[in-house]
Amino acid sequence: MSKITKKEYGEEMEKGFNLRTAMEEASRCLLCHDSPCSKGCPAGTDPGKFIRSLRFRNIKGAAETVRENNPLAGCCAQVCPYGKMCEQACSRTGIDKPIEIGKIQRFLVEEEKNQGMEFLKAAEPKKEKIACVGAGPASLSCARQLALEGYSVTVYEAQDKAGGVLTYGIIPTRLPQEVVDFDIQTIEKLGVEFKFNEPIDASKLEELKNDYDAVFVGAGLWKSKMVDIPGKDLEGVVTAIDFLREAKTNTDQLVLGENVIVIGGGDVAMDCVTTAKQLGAKATIVYRRTIEEAPADMDEVSFVQSMGIPIVQEFAPAEIVGENGHVTAMRFEGRDGESGLTMKTDQVVLAIGQAVGDDVADIAAGENVFTGGDMVNGGKTVVEAVAEGKEAAEKIADYFNK
Ligand SMILES: Cc1cc2nc3c(=O)[nH]c(=O)nc-3n(C[C@H](O)[C@H](O)[C@H](O)COP(=O)(O)OP(=O)(O)OC[C@H]3O[C@@H](n4cnc5c(N)ncnc54)[C@H](O)[C@@H]3O)c2cc1C
Ligand code: SF4
Repeated sequence: MSKITKKEYGEEMEKGFNLRTAMEEASRCLLCHDSPCSKGCPAGTDPGKFIRSLRFRNIKGAAETVRENNPLAGCCAQVCPYGKMCEQACSRTGIDKPIEIGKIQRFLVEEEKNQGMEFLKAAEPKKEKIACVGAGPASLSCARQLALEGYSVTVYEAQDKAGGVLTYGIIPTRLPQEVVDFDIQTIEKLGVEFKFNEPIDASKLEELKNDYDAVFVGAGLWKSKMVDIPGKDLEGVVTAIDFLREAKTNTDQLVLGENVIVIGGGDVAMDCVTTAKQLGAKATIVYRRTIEEAPADMDEVSFVQSMGIPIVQEFAPAEIVGENGHVTAMRFEGRDGESGLTMKTDQVVLAIGQAVGDDVADIAAGENVFTGGDMVNGGKTVVEAVAEGKEAAEKIADYFNK
């Protein structure tokens, strides 16, 4: 694969449907009465309904269903693991192949944006105020639902932009920032207020509990797990989240090694190694088990393989070697307990898992405190965080109406 420029890194790879191809795909839909596809979506986006509308050329109605049901409809259309959700449930699978639901949803969100459609309207203002901690999918979803019901919502975010992993983690070739920004604008338009660079810890949470009628905490998993081996503090050793955040938001200034080793076998590791390769490094992934045992989505693994990236399996990190304080090589021990491997490197990216940040680690749901998303479920998907944010909003409304 040829090196792409830093500008191109911000552009996505796969093109979407146009009206003709979207209609063609919708015409394959069997219009099932029980819509198994809709049951397959945790956030209740209801593909059965929007594909039916599209099939009858009601593009506006279809786009409205998508937006009303899913606050992050644009992002979900790009990053959802459909193969394990709506498309897996699709009845058409038994005949030939599932309807490309994600691509249809993406087309409808693009129509919504390009035609300036607006569907959402907040109910009459209610007196209760809610604070949401974190501006990732869980909090955004909770905030939008409450704003729609007329509540006043303020979101407190530690970073300087909203979106959580959507903005700071998922690579732009899979999720362009403009898609994230458009979804967030539809939430802002409902009057949700955002306060950035506002990290909340246990003591600030006490203030929020007093100042607001309820608090939702959706702070994700922002602490990177570390390997406890010699050399882990050397210059050139970085965590996955820091690496991806810099690559995405500060591409021109990104410090990129020539020989990058990514440690891990999950989707995050795949994103890191793809990023390093796309930006021009010689990138390798090293995983302690076999790739079949890895938690990464097999489509992501295939994508990595299609880029010609070597995947070294069954070797665990043993030591990071350095010279003058900077990493120069890495030593691994084989799973068989006998073999060893030393690889030259000038940058090591650790993608071995995430945990709840120290500042929010002691926060638990309580009287007027509600929680959801990755920090509660241990790290799942965007659409599941959206679903949990919606559910939390319902619980908060029930709490007010008790
Ligand atoms: C690199 C990467 C790639 C992924 N790829 C996919 C994918 O392709 N498809 C998919 O469905 N899922 C993917 N996921 C998982 C998905 O992104 C998460 O499940 C989802 O973002 C969880 O949403 P959340 O709101 O719980 O947390 P987050 O998205 O982590 O958002 C939490 C927010 O809280 C903020 N925060 C943290 N602490 C504080 C504090 N103390 N005070 C204030 N704010 C705070 C953070 O800055 C962040 O903005 C990926 C995850 C990663 C890391
Ligand atoms: S399950 Fe598949 S075929 Fe049936 S309504 Fe949904 S998208 Fe159409």
